[in-house]
Amino acid sequence: MKKIFIDPGHGDQGGDFGAIALDGTREADITLDIAQILKKLLSKKYQVYLSRERKMSDFPIYNNNLVFFSFYICKLLY
Ligand SMILES: [Zn+2]
Repeated sequence: MKKIFIDPGHGDQGGDFGAIALDGTREADITLDIAQILKKLLSKKYQVYLSRERKMSDFPIYNNNLVFFSFYICKLLY
């Protein structure tokens, strides 16, 4: 089964939660929500891993059957 590694930007390691919206919503929480939805959808066809569920260093990144997907969200300032 092909593998997809999803890395939602920012997270709970190191205290960097990314952009913060006016209402306090954190980028790290939105990217995690998106990643969990993607994982649920893609798990029907692929073996899906989330970076926040395991240490990146524990995962064999160099793998012929692996697609690596990392994403962030920006905050518009105006
Ligand atoms: Zn960010």
